[in-house]
Amino acid sequence: MIIAGGGATGLGVAVDAATRGYSVLLLEQSDFAKGTSSRSTKLVHGGVRYLQQGNVSLVLEALRERGLLLQNAPHLVRNQSFIVPNYDWWEGPFYGVGMKVYDMLAGKLGFGKSKVLSLEKTMEALPTIEPGGLRGGVIYHDGQFDDSRLAINLAQTAADNGGILINYMKVTGLMKSNDMIDGVKVKDMLSGEEHSINGRVVINATGAFTDTLLRMDDKNAESIISPSQGIHLVLDKHFLPGDSAIMVPHTDDGRVLFAVPWHGKVVVGTTDTPVDKPELEPIALEEEIEFVLKHATQYLTGNPTRKDVRSVFAGLRPLVKAEGASDTASLSRDHTLIISLTGLVTITGGKWTTYRKMAQDVVDQASTVAGLNRRDCITETLRIHGWLKSVNTDEPLHYYGSDRLAINKLIDERPELGQPLHERLPYLKAEVVWAVRNEMAMTIEDVLSRRVRALLLDARASVEIAPEVAGLMAQEAGFDAAWQQQQVKEFTDLAAAYILS
Ligand SMILES: Cc1cc2nc3c(=O)[nH]c(=O)nc-3n(C[C@H](O)[C@H](O)[C@H](O)COP(=O)(O)OP(=O)(O)OC[C@H]3O[C@@H](n4cnc5c(N)ncnc54)[C@H](O)[C@@H]3O)c2cc1C
Repeated sequence: MIIAGGGATGLGVAVDAATRGYSVLLLEQSDFAKGTSSRSTKLVHGGVRYLQQGNVSLVLEALRERGLLLQNAPHLVRNQSFIVPNYDWWEGPFYGVGMKVYDMLAGKLGFGKSKVLSLEKTMEALPTIEPGGLRGGVIYHDGQFDDSRLAINLAQTAADNGGILINYMKVTGLMKSNDMIDGVKVKDMLSGEEHSINGRVVINATGAFTDTLLRMDDKNAESIISPSQGIHLVLDKHFLPGDSAIMVPHTDDGRVLFAVPWHGKVVVGTTDTPVDKPELEPIALEEEIEFVLKHATQYLTGNPTRKDVRSVFAGLRPLVKAEGASDTASLSRDHTLIISLTGLVTITGGKWTTYRKMAQDVVDQASTVAGLNRRDCITETLRIHGWLKSVNTDEPLHYYGSDRLAINKLIDERPELGQPLHERLPYLKAEVVWAVRNEMAMTIEDVLSRRVRALLLDARASVEIAPEVAGLMAQEAGFDAAWQQQQVKEFTDLAAAYILS
């Protein structure tokens, strides 16, 4: 099976297919999770909003997947409490009942019971929530994770099970014989070399770029994707001290807003802005930044302004078009699987949370298209690379799970690698070396955006350490001074879009 696209969807398919014993090749045009899969709200959730929309089957499936993911990747997923602040009299009873339904749907895989909170308890848990008019809150539980670290660990899980995964390898065309697809043309984006590779089935898991591959198959294919941009602002933790996140189900203009603690910062978002054309590096629009800041100010007493924003990042939802839909917020978050007459298997839509179930559906279909013997899916209980029985989130490097020991060994051998990369960032020099050696990081951006999350946590700090990261990478992989200079320039240019002036 050849998979085009190394985001949550493609990587999930690679894990599923490899663990069933099929021979798997995954090709990613840039880095793993370079697209939407590193730019999410970082929630492993059933989706309270979809419950509001009445999509019970989606919520049920997502809640089940949430529970499985906590079991299978406990080093990356954790239980997070959320509080819905209530300013209107009806909100307490309304959301109180809604969250009870949410708890009930989660069944045995529940994360904890929801509760209506008094005004005092709400203020205690959220000391910086706007107190004017506040009546109380409703607390509930969902999951939170590190999206791109999970992507890297999925790539490793697939590789541990015999899959071959290559980043910086773009699918540029589809090969056919007798009108059936039997392989791909690819271009190595680092060396420029081109190759042709045969496979029994090709899977299109290219997210917001789904239409491009559909048109490689049939140049007249109709567009099926309506990309929708969502942005997040990252603030310092003092804007939301304590352990709980805030969830506003309905802002005054009808959107959902989250403020979630993450790696010692607070991630606030998001937006839902239709865009015409997918970009690999989408840029937050001024009006989106203003929207998030305005609402952060409305709900947080610290009144954050542009200068408080440590980073801004944008991602594209690969939403599937629906006839008659007036805006992207109402488009389905369910996934869509299409099998073309030529045998191309396309999977798109969905959520990070449901990547495993999406992959199971794809591999069931793709194995039939490929004429392979049927083998059962085993990912429900499959431990993801790094799995650990008990994880202490206070320990440095805990997000590497079982790999933490090997990184510590690296530090024992070279104590200078135990030093922090930057005083405002929670990362060590050893993580750069580890990323190059074990996690296929090829560029400064791969390291600072997706192996560690420096670019998202504090974009200015990430620019300041770029030369040192280049040096560590060069030493490890044998790159020359020109490579380092070029890399620092490219990273600095890219990071400029994450910094608000
Ligand atoms: C703002 C925002 C917030 C979100 N928050 C959450 C959340 O909190 N929880 C949740 O569960 N879900 C969330 N989602 C949804 C979730 O992030 C996406 O559903 C998921 O990441 C999509 O993964 P994907 O693999 O389909 O797409 P992508 O991650 O975009 O991956 C597609 C990959 O295909 C590659 N590609 C494209 N063309 C080619 C080619 N020709 N050859 C090779 N490779 C190619 C791209 O480079 C890209 O890496 C959010 C989405 C957005 C936009």
